[in-house]
Amino acid sequence: MDKPLRSVGIIIILILAVSGTGYFAVKKIAQNPCNLPKTWSIGTIDRRFTISKDMVQAYAAQAAKTWNDAYAPNPLLSYLAQGGDISINFVYDERQRTTIQNEKLKRSIEEDKDQLDDLKQTLDSLKSEYTTLGQTIDARTKAYTEHLATHNSEAGYWNTQGGAPNAEYQRLQREAAALETERAAINRDIARYNTLGLAIQNYGKSHNQVVSTINQKIETLNETALREFEEGTYDPSTNTITIYEYSDDTSLKRVLTHELGHAIGLQHVDDKQAIMYAVNEGTNLTLTEADKKELLRICRERTPEAMLEKLKATRDGIFHHAESSLLGTAVPAQ
Ligand SMILES: [Zn+2]
Repeated sequence: MDKPLRSVGIIIILILAVSGTGYFAVKKIAQNPCNLPKTWSIGTIDRRFTISKDMVQAYAAQAAKTWNDAYAPNPLLSYLAQGGDISINFVYDERQRTTIQNEKLKRSIEEDKDQLDDLKQTLDSLKSEYTTLGQTIDARTKAYTEHLATHNSEAGYWNTQGGAPNAEYQRLQREAAALETERAAINRDIARYNTLGLAIQNYGKSHNQVVSTINQKIETLNETALREFEEGTYDPSTNTITIYEYSDDTSLKRVLTHELGHAIGLQHVDDKQAIMYAVNEGTNLTLTEADKKELLRICRERTPEAMLEKLKATRDGIFHHAESSLLGTAVPAQ
């Protein structure tokens, strides 16, 4: 910060020399930490992150643009190939390993859930067949039992008479054969019914096993789930952003934007969707109203229009000097 402040000091002197009325507005800008852009560059990226430096630079540039656009036309963050105020580094440790494992775990839970859906469908269809077959067996058995009782009573009657007449005998013989066929058919239904019962038991066990596996995996996931923006840190004493982990492109872009926000001076805000919320749980890459409010709290004297209006007369001079002093002095290697 000392170099930009020093250059601001020079500007104040220049403006005072030009016009006494410009002093008030310029003094306020001198107090504003957002007066001059902070420069950033990419430091080292652990190779295990399987992301190229160019890609990191592109994402960080996008993150920087998010803040710059919110404060246009004054840039808050400006890229440098090397050195600069803020260095962005990727350090691979247990956190990234855990993130990768958790991503695998999430995919495997999704697969388990698909399997569960299939099992549930099979189970439902087996149960429905089981119920229908049970009702059929009950009805058939009842009819068979009644038919058999009638048949036995008729046969018994003819036996007490010393035998049935031939036609009656033939009819009873056919009836006995039909009853036997029906009995065998009912027995086949009962065998199928018992097989279905066993299958339902087995599918039920598998179903419960998959449910318990999913629950275990979710428990593991919850135990290791990150509660804060631990994917990255910003160390104000060294102006260093360190990225430790990210699960996907969106999460990486959000963490870069979040840490650059800290580098500008922003604190956490109380809006779950906000980039500056303490927990990286939103999915939006744009700033929320809470983010913008926090930006304006840090970068005082805001609304660029108001500032432009105030400084119309001296603006070009200020930015000219600001830019040249920045180019001339603010590129020390860290
Ligand atoms: Zn934070």
